[in-house]
Amino acid sequence: MKIHVNRIPAEGLQEHATYDPAPLDMERDDIHLREPFAVDAFITKTDAELIVKADIRCPLLMTCARCLEDFSSNIDTDAIFHYKVSSADVVDITDEVRQEIVLAYPMFPICQPDCKGLCTTCGQNLNVARCSHDTAEHESA
Ligand SMILES: [Zn+2]
Ligand SMILES: [Zn+2]
Repeated sequence: MKIHVNRIPAEGLQEHATYDPAPLDMERDDIHLREPFAVDAFITKTDAELIVKADIRCPLLMTCARCLEDFSSNIDTDAIFHYKVSSADVVDITDEVRQEIVLAYPMFPICQPDCKGLCTTCGQNLNVARCSHDTAEHESA
């Protein structure tokens, strides 16, 4: 989203943009972006500063760190960006938006809070079915 400072009215301006994540290099081994993401921004300016309040919504496809299944998730985050500007400037918020999303990535994506993961012996996904190596109950007894 490129913002022409001299086109921002005194009362502020609401803008919407959709980004293709492909050229932004936001993929991680366990986090993929297969769909465009959306940014709603409310832009205001003072004499020397542009203030962009951004509402970022980004769908993700993540791989669970415990069971290795892919699952859909999304990041929904608010951010405020400040730029020192003069009236002839054009501000591009893309880098800041990208940064906000990447910083919001979970360290270890987990498909559900109580994901049981994989059996370390046979690899059975224990969310789907139990296996004969399921010793958790014996150990806790
Ligand atoms: Zn899982
Ligand atoms: Zn097993």
